[in-house]
Amino acid sequence: SSSQQPSRAAENITVTVRVRPFCVAELRGNHGGGGPTAEVWAVLENDSRIRYADDYSMRERRAAVDYAYDHALTGSDNERIYTASVKSLVQSAMEGYNGTVFAYGQTSSGKTYTMSGTGRQPGITPRAVEDVFKYIRENSEREFLLRVSYLEIYNESIRDLLSPEAIDLRIHEDRKRGVYVSPLKEEIVTTPSQVMRILQRGDNQRHTSSTDYNARSSRSHSIFQIVIESRERAPTAPRSPEGRKPSLGLGFKSTKAVRVSQLNLIDLAGSEKASSDAERRKEGAFINKSLLTLGTVISKLTEEKGAHIPYRDSKLTRILQSSLSGNARVSVICTISPSFSNVEESHNTLKFAARVK
Ligand code: ADP
Ligand code: MG
Repeated sequence: SSSQQPSRAAENITVTVRVRPFCVAELRGNHGGGGPTAEVWAVLENDSRIRYADDYSMRERRAAVDYAYDHALTGSDNERIYTASVKSLVQSAMEGYNGTVFAYGQTSSGKTYTMSGTGRQPGITPRAVEDVFKYIRENSEREFLLRVSYLEIYNESIRDLLSPEAIDLRIHEDRKRGVYVSPLKEEIVTTPSQVMRILQRGDNQRHTSSTDYNARSSRSHSIFQIVIESRERAPTAPRSPEGRKPSLGLGFKSTKAVRVSQLNLIDLAGSEKASSDAERRKEGAFINKSLLTLGTVISKLTEEKGAHIPYRDSKLTRILQSSLSGNARVSVICTISPSFSNVEESHNTLKFAARVK
């Protein structure tokens, strides 16, 4: 509930910086500096510092983050990022703690590559989904109920990607459920492939309903949420077909305590400054405000109890209020471009990383 005060330690927040490899266009073009593929950012192996190669001592962000990877260290390897920065958060979510993963960075810095990935390099979301079901298989003393939802926030308005006809979704709050969006479609899921099909459906919806998908997707936040309910399995379950409850099913009636937690996987809107006047007026202001509020909320979570946390300043933080308060875990993956032409935005992203850590 909203009266819940954060009681978290700084170790509940993991901050990662990831520099993506140069893309083909960047390798062809000349982007200033020492040439098209000059090393602007560098990380030493097993070091959590990222360095700006032209200005070594002034601009390095010493110990600002937990993990840092330049393209030589991880390149396109999504597994390494997942294992270091997300895997244990998913484990905690299965054990009843809320967990949220954000990809933060300017457009085309690699947020979607990191969260969704590709067929050959599945990203954080498909890997998390696999681990959720693996955990269920390996912990047969508990029974689980999983529900998923998928929404988008664009210009501070919320859209259900699984129920496109639903418009004007509102944020509600009550004692029992905490903060929630309604009417929001939640689907009960029992297999990883079913979850992946639902995600695909939501992504298709994003594509077909906007005239300029790329522009819109880079200016909106997408939140994929898995609600995990579990309880200890009754030791002497009846064997008769009608008496035996399914291991994944609705309506827990046991007297055993039910654990409920949320796992949020979030691909944020591009953090770059708005490029045109019209955009600055319309979208840029919303995005800047919600990303600024997100930074404030996350950084305040590690402060002393009783600090005012401005969840209500943006839809994004308001929706995530239940997930970001109490003993929750947060992993922020800050993605940056390797290119000299993007160095200003990359510095802004590193400032965000330093702020939330
Ligand atoms: P964003 O979602 O931040 O706008 P994308 O994830 O779409 O950026 O990345 C932009 C382009 O760079 C895409 O073509 C993507 O496949 C590629 N890319 C991003 N990160 C990596 C990476 N770590 N390895 C290989 N290609 C990447
Ligand atoms: Mg993207």
